[in-house]
Amino acid sequence: GSILGIVGGGQLGRMSAIAAARLGYRAHILTQEADGPAAQVAHAVTLGRYDDHDALRRFADAVDVITFEFENISADGLDLLSSIRPVHPAGRILRISQDRIAEKTFMAENDIPVAPWRGVHDRADLGTAAEELGYPFILKTTRLGYDGKGQARIHDASELDAAFDSLRPHPLVAEGMVHFACEVSVMVARNERGEITTFDVTENRHRNGILDLSLAPARISPALAAQAVDLARRIAGALGLIGLLGVEMFVDRDGSLRVNEIAPRPHNSGHWTMNACPVDQFEMHVRAVTNQPLPPAIRHSDAVMKNLIGPDDMALWPQIMAAPRLLAHHYGKAEARPGRKMGHVNVLFPHGSLPGEFGVEAALGPLATAADNAA
Ligand code: ATP
Ligand code: MG
Ligand code: MG
Repeated sequence: GSILGIVGGGQLGRMSAIAAARLGYRAHILTQEADGPAAQVAHAVTLGRYDDHDALRRFADAVDVITFEFENISADGLDLLSSIRPVHPAGRILRISQDRIAEKTFMAENDIPVAPWRGVHDRADLGTAAEELGYPFILKTTRLGYDGKGQARIHDASELDAAFDSLRPHPLVAEGMVHFACEVSVMVARNERGEITTFDVTENRHRNGILDLSLAPARISPALAAQAVDLARRIAGALGLIGLLGVEMFVDRDGSLRVNEIAPRPHNSGHWTMNACPVDQFEMHVRAVTNQPLPPAIRHSDAVMKNLIGPDDMALWPQIMAAPRLLAHHYGKAEARPGRKMGHVNVLFPHGSLPGEFGVEAALGPLATAADNAA
């Protein structure tokens, strides 16, 4: 059996490694955490930092093909890995997704709609961006942001200085605020033969900047869902993707779609596929990077995914285990720090019956109570 190398030791690596094992591959993880989520389930581990070229070389030598769950490896590191083994998705795709300006430039070149934006290199640029975009708008670091970290909302001119100082010295981008009706995402996989498959559109809700709930299918019109899928397919094709890619989009109140960002790896908003699809996003990821056939991404049930965040949600683990409708996934992290993703649950509904707000809350059982207490 061949060995799949996965850069990164978190929960996405863990779930990819489990899917790899199911298909007969052995997963070898590059991570700094000897007992982290992915290392716990892996066949082998190279312990090392992602910028340690010696560790990267040892890791690459030990595997047959390389993929990622951690995206922010340096350009040097990517080049080194690619010089030793095939890397999927390719380094050029990671470089686009690592940098919001490169990402938006790529979208513009391919006629993919995004929010209006301006690069911000100094304080004067920020003033110009404010005038051109209007208030409110969002200032983001171009690199390394996640879970809404590395961004500030600016409501009027009095907030410009503080926002600028809080995010400097990093390169920044200003984005016009999209007044969205909802947020959606599409998971798309493509293999070396150019086969493409897409999962149904997911509707996403955030809380404190972190994904809280995903609903599948998204409650948008079939025409809009078809447009979202088409955008994801076009992005995957234009990138020459080999692997899996999550595309986050806003549904503007005017009914148009705008792409927010892309992530060339399994995505939190695709976790519902683990219970609602015969072939889930992690298996699709492994199939794509190992150049296996990609079956259609069939969804046999409607689903709601809720993230388990920090100590408060994890305190409910015994009740979650006791609730028969909650399909629970534990990431094996030792310490439940506030804001940390510790696991998730999926709840299934018969195909075509995803309920309204009340039904969703009710189906979450003990977690619905947690939501009320937190509010
Ligand atoms: P992730 O954890 O998804 O990687 P991130 O830190 O990269 O998050 P974004 O996805 O860019 O950040 O933004 C986080 C959230 O902030 C979005 O899901 C959305 O709710 C809101 N947001 C970001 N940009 C905009 C925008 N231009 N208009 C309106 N809302 C926005
Ligand atoms: Mg992001
Ligand atoms: Mg995002």
